[in-house]
Amino acid sequence: MSNREMLKYLGSCHCGAVRFEIETDFPELTTCDCSICRRKNALMVRVHESKFRLLSGSDALSQYQFHSKTARHFFCKVCGIYPFHRKRVTPDLLGVNVFCLDGFDPAGIPVREMAGSLMD
Ligand SMILES: [Zn+2]
Repeated sequence: MSNREMLKYLGSCHCGAVRFEIETDFPELTTCDCSICRRKNALMVRVHESKFRLLSGSDALSQYQFHSKTARHFFCKVCGIYPFHRKRVTPDLLGVNVFCLDGFDPAGIPVREMAGSLMD
């Protein structure tokens, strides 16, 4: 049980073209060993789409898809940063790159390793 509050966080890519807002209490963070996450080396938090708002940059986002082409991996086409993706199995959930969030400190939050490679 998380004792963190539901808080809003602002997130952005490196160049600032893509800006978004999420609301979460950070129950856990996840890593993933699938072929793309391994390369991104991202630490992610899962957020329902109702708790996610894209503030700007829909024109700067490029979408990358592979394999079953249901997951949608987004990156900024200006600076190349991966800010978030839509999940394959649960497309109403987003995986958000926590290092894109302003003022976020991962200390003390449990990290779960997902075996995404099994579903790659
Ligand atoms: Zn950018």
